[in-house]
Amino acid sequence: MTAENDREPVATTPPNFIAEIIDDDLASAKNGARLQTRFPPEPNGFLHVGHAKSICLNFTLASRAAFGLCNLRLDDTNPVAEDDVFVKSIQEDVRWLGFDWDDRLYFASDYFERIYAAAVTLVTKGLAYVDSQTTEEIRENRGNFYKVGVESPYRNRSVEENLELLERMRSGAVKEGEAVLRAKIDMAHQNMNMRDPLLYRIRHAEHHRTGNTWCIYPMYDFAHPLSDAFEGVTHSICTLEFEDHRVLSDWFIENVGGFTPVPRQIEFARLNLTYTVLSKRKLQQLVNEHHVLGWDDPRMPTIAGMRRRGYLPESLRAFAERIGVARRDSMVDVALLEHQLREDLNAHANRTMALVKPLRVVIENFPEDAQEEFEVPVHPEYPERGSRRVTLTREIFIEEDDYLEDPPKKWFRLTPGQEVRLRSACFLRCERAVRDENGKLIELRCTWDPASKGGSTTDGRKVKGTLHWLSKKDAVAAQIRLYDRLFTEEDPEGQENKSFLDFINPNSLEEVTGWVHRDLAQSPAGTRVQFERLGYFCVDVESTPERPVLNRTIGLRDSWSKIAGKD
Ligand code: ATP
Ligand code: MG
Repeated sequence: MTAENDREPVATTPPNFIAEIIDDDLASAKNGARLQTRFPPEPNGFLHVGHAKSICLNFTLASRAAFGLCNLRLDDTNPVAEDDVFVKSIQEDVRWLGFDWDDRLYFASDYFERIYAAAVTLVTKGLAYVDSQTTEEIRENRGNFYKVGVESPYRNRSVEENLELLERMRSGAVKEGEAVLRAKIDMAHQNMNMRDPLLYRIRHAEHHRTGNTWCIYPMYDFAHPLSDAFEGVTHSICTLEFEDHRVLSDWFIENVGGFTPVPRQIEFARLNLTYTVLSKRKLQQLVNEHHVLGWDDPRMPTIAGMRRRGYLPESLRAFAERIGVARRDSMVDVALLEHQLREDLNAHANRTMALVKPLRVVIENFPEDAQEEFEVPVHPEYPERGSRRVTLTREIFIEEDDYLEDPPKKWFRLTPGQEVRLRSACFLRCERAVRDENGKLIELRCTWDPASKGGSTTDGRKVKGTLHWLSKKDAVAAQIRLYDRLFTEEDPEGQENKSFLDFINPNSLEEVTGWVHRDLAQSPAGTRVQFERLGYFCVDVESTPERPVLNRTIGLRDSWSKIAGKD
């Protein structure tokens, strides 16, 4: 999984039907001592949690044999949509997830010459031809499910003529749309993909890597299986929508010829998540139309967004493992992902106190210049992680929601005359609230019991509420970003006559100014903590010690445990 492991099998994939196929192929030594998969993204957007599933699957499947390999291949055959920014982000994201392709980073564009040679081979064998029909004619003549296609009048051009025309296409002598190269298979085939599919089209566009070297570009269906074959991929794992393309992929491999091993295509169901959109085109639209602040906006289901939000890579890996691999499409409850995240963050994240909606408290019987210090373990279950020092002073902050003037029954937090515990410090009693002329709450006046230092008293007096707090001395003002789900609808893409944009949650981001402990203000971006009683938060990349910025990763309440009946 990582360089240190040096191809030791990590084999954490639970048994699934793909793993079984691979194990069988290994047992029968079908491919000799070869097991090779690949993750083949197109660099036309950032990777998302669906890709994470595919990455985990491909890399862990490869580790079913000690000699197994997984390549990273950028499938960059479409010059129009692709960009270096995406190439970089893809590598960063796969690495962050914990996987390593060693020196096997490949680009389909590096194979352009070989793919072209494969096309020439097909032409030479009489299995491909240059079609000069217009785009509309080609579409029209393909027929449909009920109607067989019509053969192109150019279908029976001679090999020589085809070779010459193809060369002219390559050299730039033919205009876009005036010719395409097609495989010569069967215009009456019941599988539409077999009705003389396109191999090459002319695009006078600059490619992010090959520049203007090429003005014809291979179609995905042609380039993809060939790229697999060039790399010696034994198992081409892809999502279900390519099931109908398998027979075509196999046709290309067989008819171009000369490949061992022959890649075996296996399809699995893509991940769909509730309250989430996982189409690159739609994610791009969210970015372009400024519904979010970028591909790495913490509300985005992109790996970069989730990283910034505070997700742990192990949570995504565990989630991918937990949902498994199926052959039928289904929708996974995002609460399951959140459940996994909470479970991991609970152990990972140290505790700290912070206020998102602060209310000032003056402890009237606490001398102006005095202070009391308390050591608080940063994690109750891991004493070895050490402790944090919190200081009590006359002026402190509590959460505004922890005070009510006229509370309902069983209110154990602050109200005039009631005593609570300040976490890890002492007892505090509310005397009265101070309001301005408009009745707005300004501060609380309270008293403390010096005999309750440490959080209990010798007279056996008990309090039921424990509040989080910070003293003026420890507190640094912070920008706190409270994130919520980006969509209000469980299936934002599946609503009749509505666009997914209609279901954007207008409250998916609330920014507040709160207080965090000065220790946290010093922590580097990416630090994940639990704000006691409030949730898990992560230090944002824009954070500075003077102006900390914290992203709420997720609240403490777990709806999945409830669904699963675990609570
Ligand atoms: P596009 O809509 O641009 O085709 P894509 O999401 O299919 O986008 P690719 O870059 O082609 O993106 O995907 C790379 C790999 O990730 C493919 O093998 C694809 O099958 C897989 N993949 C994409 N989306 C999901 C998903 N939601 N769940 C599982 N695997 C996915
Ligand atoms: Mg795709």
